[in-house]
Amino acid sequence: MMEAQGIAKRFGSVAAVRGIDLRVASGEIVGLAGENGAGKTTTLRLLTGFLEPDLGEIHIGGVDMMAASRAARRFVGYVPEAAPLYADMRVVEYLRYRARLKGVSRALCMAAVDAAMERTQIEDRHRWLIGNLSKGWRQRVALADALVAEPDVLILDEPTAGLDPVQVQQFLTVLRELSTERAVLMASHVLPILEDVADRLIILAEGRIAAQGTLDELRAQVGAGAEVSLDAVFATIVGGTETC
Ligand code: ATP
Repeated sequence: MMEAQGIAKRFGSVAAVRGIDLRVASGEIVGLAGENGAGKTTTLRLLTGFLEPDLGEIHIGGVDMMAASRAARRFVGYVPEAAPLYADMRVVEYLRYRARLKGVSRALCMAAVDAAMERTQIEDRHRWLIGNLSKGWRQRVALADALVAEPDVLILDEPTAGLDPVQVQQFLTVLRELSTERAVLMASHVLPILEDVADRLIILAEGRIAAQGTLDELRAQVGAGAEVSLDAVFATIVGGTETC
């Protein structure tokens, strides 16, 4: 569903992404991990068409992102790290506004918003002002926003940041349901969450893929047993074990 080959992006002298190949199929959740500055957000922004790569190719649903960016972007729903929601709009008004902005026709808009609210289980907050919602509910609105134009690919950047443990589990439950018919790529610093939800993991270091595979495959790569956590496997792969 989503495929990137050799993508690279530089900001001045900083090589943020240095030749990444990846593939996410419909029905799977791929977790993207990496230390601060490893290139996760830049990779996600390239895949959403928000940034243009210096090198490489991206195909979403078979459509070339560079040749037909608008068409390719229609396949993608993006939940950025800090979703810019309008605090003084009601949930339902905001989602209708976003649906129209994303090209959903007037005739289909109401049904699209209802479906997105149902999938993210926010119907009973639909009249609330966004500014009055807790962080967990706002994240669900951000997810509904990403879903409202019926994307086949969902890209999420640190979507559970700031959520309490109950809200995290609720969010992951919704995400698992959504992933049955979508390709999902999710970046997070919180490795136990990726361990919990991701079918496959990609570990970035300094703009490159340092390792990828299922958790068991990553364990095997570092010679770790089945009881070893993703945190420990990650530390071995990126050499990030710090002592004091
Ligand atoms: P974090 O976990 O801290 O969010 P990340 O893995 O998402 O980090 P990126 O945000 O992709 O990493 O950043 C990768 C590198 O590119 C960093 O060195 C960052 O400072 C740099 N960078 C990212 N965006 C820009 C920009 N717009 N202008 C200049 N440098 C940038």
